[in-house]
Amino acid sequence: MSSKTPVAILGATGMVGQRLANLLVDHPWFEAKTLAASERSAGKPYNQACAWHLDAASHAGVGDHTVVSCDADAITKAHGGPGLAISALPSGVAKTLEIELAERGWAVVSNASSHRMDPRVPLIIPEVNADHLELVHDQPWKGSLITNPNCTSMPLTIALAPIHRTFGLVRACIASYQAVSGAGYPGESAWDMLANVRPHPGDEEEKLAIEPAKILGTRSEGGIEAAPFVMSARCVRVPVVDGHLVAAQVETQRPVSPEEAIAAMTSWKGAGLQLPSSPDPIIRFDERRDRPQPRFDSHHGKGMAVTVGRVEACPVMGLKFFTLAHNTLRGAAGAALLNAELLHSKGLLPA
Ligand code: NAP
Repeated sequence: MSSKTPVAILGATGMVGQRLANLLVDHPWFEAKTLAASERSAGKPYNQACAWHLDAASHAGVGDHTVVSCDADAITKAHGGPGLAISALPSGVAKTLEIELAERGWAVVSNASSHRMDPRVPLIIPEVNADHLELVHDQPWKGSLITNPNCTSMPLTIALAPIHRTFGLVRACIASYQAVSGAGYPGESAWDMLANVRPHPGDEEEKLAIEPAKILGTRSEGGIEAAPFVMSARCVRVPVVDGHLVAAQVETQRPVSPEEAIAAMTSWKGAGLQLPSSPDPIIRFDERRDRPQPRFDSHHGKGMAVTVGRVEACPVMGLKFFTLAHNTLRGAAGAALLNAELLHSKGLLPA
């Protein structure tokens, strides 16, 4: 019998779900066990329910697993009791199901946006704010629920963490260039995306304006006190497969030169955690004038490293740079897996 912790993947047939299944192949601590998706997929073998879109061995060695429906009782029964669930569900479904599972004793690690801003729920990037995990001890459920940020907040917040902590962020103006895989499958229509760019029609800009402040906030009596900076974001979908590029102009309390910013970012060790999915370095700096680029720079550190470039003085805000991360890895599946590894390392998974 395997000594690895069995994982339930919620939304296992989607873009993020299949990334997760693939990341669990040969994972040292975890293995995929229960695969859940919509009624459309339930009852089918995974290799029939899931249109595989990854350049990796088909269906991650779990193609013969029968997909279960996203019902808390069905998932708990299929799993043999509550355990670790990693959720890649649409936010509407995640909203109720993730709470139902936490109530039953599951440790739920979510990619969905539904509970990210709930004051009871930590929004975690392990390198940045692992201490926020303490919130789970006060959660009202038998189990726990933690979340990771939106795929565009991820490269931005990681690049901002060393800047904010060293120089104090006052405000930032952001523009994103987001890959089509960020919209899931089938996602955006070819008609909208071929030879075109498209201002994001969803609520990405609102998420980008608030998530980094929660992540970079501090633990207080009442939970998390958001960091006191303001952020204005514009988000655009571009015809790129994987990798979200973000342009940032930032103003800091203490003036920061490009050289100081580069040194702060590249020497940053985060919380010093060495989890199986931790990249080293966390932030790479590319000095070439035309980098980072999604096609060439999204896969560094097995898709978990963030690449920054064009770190320059800004005549309006003080400092400007580009930051890039792989949206379905660092920005989604890998982010959730890293959070699950953090829970495991702290002994916070159900027995
Ligand atoms: P996706 O490709 O559309 O996959 C959605 C998954 O949810 C599929 O497994 C689907 O199952 C399942 N599902 C859909 N409706 C359902 C329902 N009513 N009941 C139960 N299951 C249902 O989406 P995705 O890109 O993987 O995104 C998943 C989540 O991660 C979303 O909340 C998204 O916002 C978040 N996220 C995505 C990214 C990214 O880069 N893609 C990044 C960060 C966060 P069927 O196949 O059976 O329909």
